[in-house]
Amino acid sequence: MKSLKLTLQETAMKIKTAEKILVTAHINPDGDALGSTLAMCQVLRQFGKIAQVYIDDKLPTNLNFLPHINEIKRPAENEKFDADLLLVIDTAPDRIGSIRNLTDAQILNIDHHVTNKNETDDLYLEHTAAAACEIIFKLCKELGVKITPDIATCLYTGIVTDTGFFNYSNTTPTTFRVAAELVEYGVKPNYISEQVERRKLNDVKVMIAALQTMQIYFNEKVAGMFIDEELSKVVDTTEGLVDLIRVIDTVDVAFVLTYKAENLVRASLRSKGVNVSEIAQKMGGGGHIRAAGCTFHTSFDEAKNILLQTLGEYFD
Ligand code: 5GP
Ligand code: MN
Repeated sequence: MKSLKLTLQETAMKIKTAEKILVTAHINPDGDALGSTLAMCQVLRQFGKIAQVYIDDKLPTNLNFLPHINEIKRPAENEKFDADLLLVIDTAPDRIGSIRNLTDAQILNIDHHVTNKNETDDLYLEHTAAAACEIIFKLCKELGVKITPDIATCLYTGIVTDTGFFNYSNTTPTTFRVAAELVEYGVKPNYISEQVERRKLNDVKVMIAALQTMQIYFNEKVAGMFIDEELSKVVDTTEGLVDLIRVIDTVDVAFVLTYKAENLVRASLRSKGVNVSEIAQKMGGGGHIRAAGCTFHTSFDEAKNILLQTLGEYFD
């Protein structure tokens, strides 16, 4: 099957004609993945549809405040979900873990990642949208649904987490307009920033330990932190760690390399200039120009070597 690049109107039509919808997003879910899927699920239920969010991963505890987050399911082995549409948001369908085993339903993919190369499914891709939540907001307007304070809270959270509270280069005038409207629909920005930035004492202790692993490379242009197997045992979340070293004035690229399991290592990359989505793609990953990531199916040391070698093609 060839892919079909949809307009927003066509996307809205596909959603309207479905009755039982499984909604999902990427593994290692962030505020945008959870905010966009939870908002979408509430919208679908407003239309009287059967809708359920499944995420094949642990959920970050600082996002526990998101309305309806407790209803998100993680698929059990051999579980099935009777759906006529699989809505994949904030990623191409190759990063949704085991969700594909739940249903054979046709996929509708809504994303804002420039690296989304989905060539087989229906795709609505808007790479200039700061967050998937920005697209879901537009879709709400297209569908003519009521944006409740709960839906607004989910959408606003995705926007602030993907833009670093409107600080990153993906922030556009549209982002601010959408956010302003969401505040009119009942969002409390101070409450959301307090919740999103909440950390356990242990997480702050992990920050200290992680900072101690910092290494500087390529004439101070690159900074990295290393959550190896030992340190990974005490880490609950690596969210935000990379931002701690991105601030160094000489640094262009900051990264965190994290041990996940044997021969499973994740890299999270941030930049101020260089295109890290291109660098991540060279290592089998993807993302955005200034925020990207990839997964290595190698030992931790090997992953570190590959990452530094690839970065070396851009810095010397
Ligand atoms: P993070 O570093 O926060 O995990 O990811 C940064 C951005 O890159 C996010 O938008 C995320 O979805 C994307 N990203 C992270 N890892 C991967 C990956 O392995 N593949 C792709 N395609 N995108 C990724
Ligand atoms: Mn996103």
